[in-house]
Order: sequence, then C-alpha cells, then structure tokens
Amino acid sequence: MGSSTRHITHRPPPPGTTLGAHLHRLRLSHDPFCPWCRTTPEAMEHFLLQCPCFHSQHTALRSLLSTLAITTLDLSTLLAASGVHPSWQPTVLRLTYAFLRKTS
Ligand SMILES: [Zn+2]
Repeated sequence: MGSSTRHITHRPPPPGTTLGAHLHRLRLSHDPFCPWCRTTPEAMEHFLLQCPCFHSQHTALRSLLSTLAITTLDLSTLLAASGVHPSWQPTVLRLTYAFLRKTS
C-alpha cells in the first residue's frame, strides 16, 4: 500500500480565519455603519471592544483577561496578543477566537 505522506487534515482554523470572515462581511456591506448596532462607523475596535450589541461578551472577555492580569484591551492585544507575556499569548488568542465565534 502506498502510504504516502498524509499530514493532519483536521486542524482547528487559526484565529484569523473567523476574523477574516467578519472583515469580509463588513466590507461587503456598503453601509458605513456597524451592521449590528448601526450607530458607529464600522471598525474592528468598535466591534471587539465597544459595540453595545456585544456588551455582555465584552464584559466576559474583559473579566477573563483580567484574571490573566491583562487590563490593556486594544486591538493589538486581542488580535496579536502583543504586550502579553508569551506564556499567555495562546490563551489570549483563544479567548479572542471564542469571542468571534460567539458573535458570528
Ligand atoms: Zn456596533
């Protein structure tokens, strides 16, 4: 049997995948305003940190991050775990990914 080099086929998608879908959806819309709350021009920062439609998710994310002693919440923290201790970076990215899945 020619058992070739079959690599792992079932990998969880990287965090960027879902984010990309969100960005794509936002770009598809010609409406300049947030598609959820419609009060603010769309921006990832608004969506991840401020959109009132996701207030409870923001609160949950904040409290989870605060248990990691992460109190600076901005885009580079959430999307790239920049400024976060390397041992916590996978956790931060996982939390961000979980947030995106909940809101998709
Ligand atoms: Zn909004």
